[in-house]
Amino acid sequence: MSKIRFTAISESQSRTPLTIDENGRRSEHFATNVFNEEKMLQFLTKEAYDSVKGAIFSGSKIDRKIADQVAEAMKCWAINMGATHYTHWFQPLTGTTAEKHDAFFDLLPDGRALEKFGGGQLVQQEPDASSFPHGGIRNTFEARGYTAWDPTSPAFLYGTTLCIPTIFVAYTGEALDNKAPLLRALSAVDSAATGVAKYFDKNVSKVNATLGWEQEYFLIDESLAMSRPDLVMTGRTLVGQTAAKGQQLDDHYFGVIPSRVLSFMRHLEKECTKLGIPVKTRHNEVAPNQFELAPVFEEANLAVDHNLLLMDVMDKVAESHKLKVLFHEKPFAGINGSGKHNNWSLATDTGVNLLSPGSTPMKNLQFLTFFVNTIKAVDTYEELLRSSIASASNDHRLGANEAPPAIFSIFIGKQLSSVLDELEGVSKGKLSPEEKTELKLNVVGKIPEIMLDNTDRNRTSPFAFTGNKFEMRGVGSKTNCAKPMMVLNTIVAKQLNDFKKEVDVLIDKKNLKKDEAIFNVLREYIKTSKRIRFDGDGYSQEWEKEAKKRKLSNNRTTPDAIQVLTAKDSLELFNAMNVMSEVEVRARQEVELESYIMHLQIEGRVFNELVYGYVIPAAIEYQNILLANVGGLKEIYGAGYKKLSDSQLDIIQRISGHLEILKTKTDAMVNERKKANVIADSKSKADAYCNKVKPYFDEIRYHCDKLERLVSDKHWPLTKYRELLFVK
Ligand code: ADP
Ligand code: MG
Repeated sequence: MSKIRFTAISESQSRTPLTIDENGRRSEHFATNVFNEEKMLQFLTKEAYDSVKGAIFSGSKIDRKIADQVAEAMKCWAINMGATHYTHWFQPLTGTTAEKHDAFFDLLPDGRALEKFGGGQLVQQEPDASSFPHGGIRNTFEARGYTAWDPTSPAFLYGTTLCIPTIFVAYTGEALDNKAPLLRALSAVDSAATGVAKYFDKNVSKVNATLGWEQEYFLIDESLAMSRPDLVMTGRTLVGQTAAKGQQLDDHYFGVIPSRVLSFMRHLEKECTKLGIPVKTRHNEVAPNQFELAPVFEEANLAVDHNLLLMDVMDKVAESHKLKVLFHEKPFAGINGSGKHNNWSLATDTGVNLLSPGSTPMKNLQFLTFFVNTIKAVDTYEELLRSSIASASNDHRLGANEAPPAIFSIFIGKQLSSVLDELEGVSKGKLSPEEKTELKLNVVGKIPEIMLDNTDRNRTSPFAFTGNKFEMRGVGSKTNCAKPMMVLNTIVAKQLNDFKKEVDVLIDKKNLKKDEAIFNVLREYIKTSKRIRFDGDGYSQEWEKEAKKRKLSNNRTTPDAIQVLTAKDSLELFNAMNVMSEVEVRARQEVELESYIMHLQIEGRVFNELVYGYVIPAAIEYQNILLANVGGLKEIYGAGYKKLSDSQLDIIQRISGHLEILKTKTDAMVNERKKANVIADSKSKADAYCNKVKPYFDEIRYHCDKLERLVSDKHWPLTKYRELLFVK
């Protein structure tokens, strides 16, 4: 009989919530551990401050002398705060962050010790990059990559380490990370959107993409989580009979937060506050033990960094509460999985949200311009956007009957749909004064009013307009937001550039007024991007059929979804927008395929261990007890034993039945894995894992779960769903 499960349960029941002292007002502690503008003003010379600000605003270069000054200031500040080490903090293609700490401490040639940190170390580091995924960009013999300071995301003190956000590139210049392409995409959308925003306000000189993510996660008692080899190794449960009670009573969502969890959340928010992560909202999510946290939105690059940092802080804080955070998109079958909605918009340096309707017709035309262009961009590149959120773990959501579907569509609500329908009727070329007035008063002018009662909401839509931003809902809870944000901002940038060209042609060559030209181009966009708009139930079978008719992609699995990355149009797009070269795109596709294969390979191995190491032995042990019982009855009752042992014999047989299939299927899965492993081409190998290996997972699980129901609770070695999800 297994002891781990029962020890874990009793450990989990002995916990009490930690007491957290939040130290008064949050605003007073906000960003105390961040070398932000306030600290720069305090620690830098005016010259250095202006130079860093210039780099943040326009990407201008910071020269070496200034970098030395900044480094010295950062060092003083950090050491004062108790720092002993510094690190470049970067985002390799593993999907998480990486760091390599160096002490400030150094020795002079004469043996004296001192604290040292210069511009050189601030601006560039050379981590040995050979062990990071590179998708073939870097051969091992030229393994050096380097990290380079990203001044747009402020350095911060994490524990006793000064962390400097950086990009990570190969010596040949190719990006080996998620941040570098994101920064390029943000720069592209800045210049494209600024160009278009100038039609409406000459004073706009910069546009920032904004991002507000909503992080969903599960919290499980640490001992219980550790008692499950599958949770430890893969982040999800591979087997497990669903508990009698799941989320059907809707009694968890927005319910009272359990006290141990609340204590974790308060502790977490305290740490986040010091790190400048503007966390705001916390609540129970739909599934048992599932929760959500959302911040105030920020500039997209900073928001991405903050989300990555948050996930790390969550892991660490959870440890001290003897909890384990599960970021996996589908840790438990039968209940909701976790996502990370990405709320996105564009904001000017004059303080205007470009996706927010305004008080004048011109402001509303500006809103419509950015609104329709985003729709058009998503319509043109829906498949590419889908590819940006593909992963083995997110396939459990996007590829299964779970929120949201793998088909991209946009929800804008009835009212805005009717505005677009009216705009479709705008005349070609010049507009009569009457038509202009009509448009101003009754179509464009009505938008703010309409929006006031735009209570229309559609939770099934993967890309929904929610009043003053778009919400991308398919992003996985584990995913680095840099990936979808890189694609979204690239496609919108491309679209806005095209739009501006078309409008300028109408103004210059056809003598149209600016607003006439804009109406003319928008009219065509509305017509040609209609197929992407869908307000109905995104989970329904009808939509799947309809979407097929509309020729929208429906890629349910990662190997299929990421093919589009290297399609001619995608390569041209990334190249034209200076976001990624062909080499960089191909490398990413390769890394994604490898990661997919690896994840399935690990799951396959864990299945093997679960079946042979846990499930089969438990079933046999229990079956032996039944057999002994039947033997005993036979001894005492002779021929009469049969009648008395009917039920036992039935269970014995059913156990044997499942055992037989379980063993056969597991061996067959291992065999398919072996075959897949010798395939050289990554795509074919990923396909083999997807189509030959993975289907066995469900079958194996089915029989494991049946056995869980047959075997006595006492003999079942794997912590059950009921215990994982309901023990507080
Ligand atoms: P819900 O989707 O739960 O109704 P909210 O309306 O509260 O959410 O907003 C969710 C997220 O959207 C928050 O993180 C918020 O900061 C973010 N958000 C709000 N406005 C913007 C914006 N202009 N750009 C980007 N994110 C935004
Ligand atoms: Mg939301």
